[in-house]
Amino acid sequence: MGSAANESLSRLLGSEEAVLALLAWQQRAGRKLPWRETQDPYRIWVAETILQQTRIEQATPYLERFFGRFPTLEALATSSLDAVLAVWQGLGYYRRAHHLHQTARLLVERGGWEAYLAGQDPVARLETLPGIGPYTARAIVVFSGRGAYLPVDGNVTRVLSRLVGMTVPASERKKYQALADELPESWRSREVAFALMDLANQACFPRKPRCVACPLQRFCTAYQQAQPEAYPPKKPRRPRPVRAFRFLLYATPQAVWLEKRPEEGLWSGLWCLPMEELPTLRSTPPDFVHELTHFRLAGYIERLPSPPPQATPILWDRLAACGLPAPLQRLLTHEAKGHRSPFLG
Ligand code: SF4
Repeated sequence: MGSAANESLSRLLGSEEAVLALLAWQQRAGRKLPWRETQDPYRIWVAETILQQTRIEQATPYLERFFGRFPTLEALATSSLDAVLAVWQGLGYYRRAHHLHQTARLLVERGGWEAYLAGQDPVARLETLPGIGPYTARAIVVFSGRGAYLPVDGNVTRVLSRLVGMTVPASERKKYQALADELPESWRSREVAFALMDLANQACFPRKPRCVACPLQRFCTAYQQAQPEAYPPKKPRRPRPVRAFRFLLYATPQAVWLEKRPEEGLWSGLWCLPMEELPTLRSTPPDFVHELTHFRLAGYIERLPSPPPQATPILWDRLAACGLPAPLQRLLTHEAKGHRSPFLG
């Protein structure tokens, strides 16, 4: 942290007024969310897990169903994974469901929550369990009244960054959590955590924050600098290189000729038009551009008068059963309908 941020931090933390203003605002304007009413570590853990990467409106009916079907840790641990997945269906990120089930079994085998929550450093012990990271471990401990923490999620990261003028990208969450772990105890309580989360949700928006409604305005570095949106700074993205490929298309009214990609490399194991990389981009615009993790693919389609060697004819009505890369799937769907794809020129 830079010295300016250090100064802001001391100013903010030196003032009990800031915590009091935040808590008074929370009383008045905070959200009343049912899963905040409990101190049961099981319910806290499940709620925090389901709420990750899921909006509250979407998560709420799932939480109700989950607790209806698995009201206790033991009920979850003794159920089958299929039963958990059936309740989870439609929520996405299925790994979370696998982890909940696996961790419930481990917890029951090892003596339940007390084996993890009692004694020194419960956070470190909880973090050894599948699916429990730094945020969830701290949330379980502080929300169940077993220790003083401020769990830092993406929203709290944004508020902290603005309050103290911290010029660390939000992706470096560990640094924000380290800062939160060093805060005085008055900042590390379930009430402060809920208040900061609500502040992020109701005033300190990523864009156009409503500083006018914020109880911490007087203490906020970003506000004083009149540039709240500058925090946290965006991580500069390196421009992705562009690579050019040509795709060979031979099709009849009955079939299209495809080949299977090798097991290694780009689009491994998928069906695709025969393709090869070109040394450079062509002078004409590509027929399609597709974003991949490490590069941008510029695709040029070449129609052939005869089948390309080593390709296999795939009947149009069998195409849906083949795994195809997304841009090829779009392109061939057009072709299959007998329409010339707009990409094909
Ligand atoms: S003053 Fe504005 S930028 Fe600062 S914490 Fe409040 S809402 Fe966020």
